[in-house]
Amino acid sequence: MKIGILALQGDVVEHVRAFEALGESVVQVRSVPDLAGLDALVLPGGESTTISVLLDSSGLFHAISGLLADGLPAFGTCAGMILLSRATIGGRADQRCLGAIDIVVRRNAFGRQVESFERDLRIEGMSPDWFRGVFIRAPVVEDVGDGVVVLAEVEMPLARGRGERTGAVGSGGVIDRQACKPVLCRQGSVMAAAFHPELAGDLRLHEMFLSVVSQPQPPTASNSPCSSGISRGSNVSRQRDRQDLPSSGASAPGLSGFPEARYSERQG
Ligand code: GLN
Repeated sequence: MKIGILALQGDVVEHVRAFEALGESVVQVRSVPDLAGLDALVLPGGESTTISVLLDSSGLFHAISGLLADGLPAFGTCAGMILLSRATIGGRADQRCLGAIDIVVRRNAFGRQVESFERDLRIEGMSPDWFRGVFIRAPVVEDVGDGVVVLAEVEMPLARGRGERTGAVGSGGVIDRQACKPVLCRQGSVMAAAFHPELAGDLRLHEMFLSVVSQPQPPTASNSPCSSGISRGSNVSRQRDRQDLPSSGASAPGLSGFPEARYSERQG
């Protein structure tokens, strides 16, 4: 297959390596002609405001929007998830999203770069099911529309000053299941992850996306490109089973914070 990686800004090379390691042919997309003949497009992590501006100035926003409306499969990670969403909370007023998946995404939901962390995630349909989620100044999904399947969630930290993070499983923290938010979603042949599978040293999510691309999928979301802010009512039907969430058992992995220097600005 021919996989395009949007290469305007962000951690492009890590996705290139992942798909090449899986034997796919990869094109770095910097201008409209690079989109020709793609079987799928990947929008990497980085800085969604910057990528949004560059998408506009390169003419790629319009071209990609059209291809997504025609059913081009897409995978967005972190900033890429923000760009594929229906609406963004916490974005710049002029930040645009492609409306390819019916989710509302909150930018920088865990705080600043220094509050980046890693967490093992349970992913629907993946066996063995723990996948290392690398969250770098990550977004979360606040709202999902009908037809969106939630494949993984993460527990949100308690508000500052209210004690331990709820996510500190294994270190005495209490998980508040109400505080779990989706971090991996699929609708039709569009997948979006709030974390960075390309940095996990584990190709299973890239493989999962390739299997989505190779199987015919029903049509995707509304595909109504929008500006930031919730543009529609929140008529949410969450297609997920809360019983499948990670438990707070002793073997459950913990939340680990990372110093800012560990990940570069390129990724967040
Ligand atoms: N915080 C970034 C944004 O809003 C996303 C971070 C990332 O891609 N690692 O665009």
